[in-house]
Amino acid sequence: MRFIKCVLTLSILSTALIGDYVVFKSTYSQSPVFRAVTDSLVHASIGFLSSLLFFSHDINVSYNVSVLNIIICTFVSSLIDIDHAVLAKSVHLKDMVNLRQRGFLHCTSLWLLITTILLMYSYVFKKVNVYLLTFMLIIAYSSHHIRDANRRGIWLYPFGHTAAVHKYMYIFLICALPYLYALCYDLFLSDFVRHVVGFDYKIIV
Ligand SMILES: [Zn+2]
Repeated sequence: MRFIKCVLTLSILSTALIGDYVVFKSTYSQSPVFRAVTDSLVHASIGFLSSLLFFSHDINVSYNVSVLNIIICTFVSSLIDIDHAVLAKSVHLKDMVNLRQRGFLHCTSLWLLITTILLMYSYVFKKVNVYLLTFMLIIAYSSHHIRDANRRGIWLYPFGHTAAVHKYMYIFLICALPYLYALCYDLFLSDFVRHVVGFDYKIIV
C-alpha cells in the first residue's frame, strides 16, 4: 500500500505540473476554449487521483462504494467550473471564458459551510454514507480551489480573497491533503462506532 500511495502522490504532482504547462504555456494556450477544456480535465484528474489516494488508506468500504465515491469526486472536481456558465448566463464557452468575476462554486466559505453542515448531520444521525460523501466533496472542492488559488487566491466570503498561493505550496497541499483527510475520516469514524452500541458501519459495504 505504501508503494501505491507513493505512485498516486507522484501522479498528483506530475498531473499538476504537466497540466499547468499544457493549460497555460503550451502552443494552444492562447485559445480560451482549449484552456477551459484542458483546465477542467486537469481538475478532474487531480480529483480522481486524490480520491484514489484517500481510498488507498484503510477505508473500510466495499469496492462498489469506493468506485461510486471516486466517480462523484472526479465529477464534482470538474463540475465546479460550471458556475462560469451560470454567471455568464450562457452555455457557450466564449461567453464563459471572458468573465472577470468568480462564480459561487469558487467561494470556499460556501463549501466550508455546506460540508460542515453535512458532517454534523452525518455525525448526529450516524449516516456513514453521508460522512464518506462529504469527504469526497471536501477533496473535490479543496483540490480545485487550491489549484485555482495559484492564480487568483482563495475566496473567503465575506472577507474577500487571499493572496495567490505559491505554486510549490499549492502542489504540496494537493498532494498532502488526501493523507490528512484519510486520517480525519478514520479518527471520527471510530467515534461514530464508539457512540452507537452495535452500530454496524459496514452498512455501506
Ligand atoms: Zn475553477
